[in-house]
Amino acid sequence: MITRMSSLFLRTLREDPADAEVPSHKLLVRAGYVRRVAPGGYSWLPLGLRVLRRIETVVREEMDAIGAQEIQFPALLPKEPYETTGRWTDYGDSLFRLQDRKGVDYALGPTHEEFFALAVKGEYSSYKDYPVALYQIQTKYRDEARPRAGILRGREFVMKDSYSFDLDDEGLERSYQAHRAAYIRIFDRLGLDYVVVAATSGAMGGSASEEFLAVSPTGEDTYVRSTESGFAANVEAVVTPVPPAQAIEGRPEARPHHTPDTPTIESLVDFLNGAGLGRTFTAADTLKNVLVKTRAPGTKDWTLLGIGVPGDREVDMKRLEAALEPDEAALLDEKDFATNPFLVKGYIGPKSLRDNGVRYLVDPRIVPGTAWVTGADKADHHVVDLLCGRDFTPDGTIEAAEVWEGDASPDGQGTLIAARGIEIGHIFQLGRKYADAFELDALGADSKPIRITMGSYGVGVSRLVAVIAEQHHDELGLCWPRTVAPADVHVVLAGKDESIAEGAEKLAAELSERGLRVLLDDRKASPGVKFADAELVGVPTILVVGRGLAKGLVEVKDRASNEREEVPVDEAVQRLV
Ligand code: ATP
Ligand code: MG
Ligand code: MG
Ligand code: MG
Repeated sequence: MITRMSSLFLRTLREDPADAEVPSHKLLVRAGYVRRVAPGGYSWLPLGLRVLRRIETVVREEMDAIGAQEIQFPALLPKEPYETTGRWTDYGDSLFRLQDRKGVDYALGPTHEEFFALAVKGEYSSYKDYPVALYQIQTKYRDEARPRAGILRGREFVMKDSYSFDLDDEGLERSYQAHRAAYIRIFDRLGLDYVVVAATSGAMGGSASEEFLAVSPTGEDTYVRSTESGFAANVEAVVTPVPPAQAIEGRPEARPHHTPDTPTIESLVDFLNGAGLGRTFTAADTLKNVLVKTRAPGTKDWTLLGIGVPGDREVDMKRLEAALEPDEAALLDEKDFATNPFLVKGYIGPKSLRDNGVRYLVDPRIVPGTAWVTGADKADHHVVDLLCGRDFTPDGTIEAAEVWEGDASPDGQGTLIAARGIEIGHIFQLGRKYADAFELDALGADSKPIRITMGSYGVGVSRLVAVIAEQHHDELGLCWPRTVAPADVHVVLAGKDESIAEGAEKLAAELSERGLRVLLDDRKASPGVKFADAELVGVPTILVVGRGLAKGLVEVKDRASNEREEVPVDEAVQRLV
């Protein structure tokens, strides 16, 4: 196939778009792959759509290879199934909700667990039907708080989501491992540098969920990995479990030597060492931000219970304020830090915790001193004073202590290093949550119902276009790996002579006949403009047909390495196929 630049719906831009901060966003817009239509909404122009389709093909092939079957749901979905599982409200502000002309509620699907569960319930009834895995490659909608970086975080984006249905836990484990292996093949084929990290704490059950993070400084996720073992975890996944029982039994009452009036490093160290955090603290440790947090059972968000500020009181108020919701920040008063080593205000999410350098999380029940407790509904503030001997009974449980760069790896091998990544895939052992909600059962051999167990598995297909661009570019432009590139060879016709035009056409035709996808720059533009565009567009091989042709030579340039070589024209095709 030959695509002619003279008629291609493509206009490249010399300037970076004003709203672009990350390289992929700048380059994909400049090179004419995507155009912004709305906040978090982009159109795909011909070259961009080709890359997107190539990625879809890789994903589809690997899904088919593990026996998953492709189906397709609408994006416009009724409310009731989401109500059945509670997600109509649980999903919060990210769910796009709308009404039809009769006032009936609908959602634009952010993910489709409910509908796949219902689909299987509709078609299958016997244990003999199982296992089954279904997938779709489809547009998803999420009203992201901060649509960002072009197609990296859109409000409308393409996801491959699949769902597995098994009769028992072993079956689910097999389905999960099959998806895991398929994801490794997908991301390898796409030429990505990525890590697989635990996405939930060990306390919540082994490999219940893992994320695939593309290594990138522009990533919004922070992960830690061991310098020696294969251990890797998203920092959001709390990795050193503290058994709740130990926390509760160990210290139900106050430790009298550590009072709000005598905050010292030593007393805090002492208390931390008694807190069962799985490591020993010394006064030399940075203990500026010891944070007490809790979370209500079954909820995702943490409630901030206290910040320990021993002695030196070096709290960075600006950073702390930035981490809080505005109304919560308004509650902060620097004076409080002067009088209370365990100042407690407000509510804070795990990401903000990390951004504030918070490292160790302590069970409030073993923290002496005065604490504010913020109830799950946020409105319910009250003071609990341990030294007055009142019971401290927060509505949450402590789950773990976070680990951080420089700590010992939880598996005891090596120390942890931290880096940033972009989430490109996420695999989940859902268990029976959705099957329970919809009573998804199979009739067993003994005529008794068997509750089905599910897994769900997502790949950010459109996000991958940007992620690959993040990892494959230089200061001149994009450098696509061949698997996803919009063309295999970019033939640049550089010169006005009729013979050059003929030579370029002939080469393009031969390459095309041999099965290569050719982008032919046959425009009436200067060689300089054409070279710059070829570098910007990023097709893996650039073939320059110019003055050298008179001597029987053309130039072959590898876009990724920028190495160029003069090649006899009769060998050029042979070289490239
Ligand atoms: P993130 O942490 O980046 O918000 P997520 O955990 O909310 O992603 P999942 O619900 O796990 O996303 O969805 C599966 C995949 O869909 C993600 O791994 C990611 O690659 C992709 N994805 C999620 N949100 C977006 C988005 N707003 N734009 C583009 N791709 C997205
Ligand atoms: Mg998200
Ligand atoms: Mg995520
Ligand atoms: Mg995820």
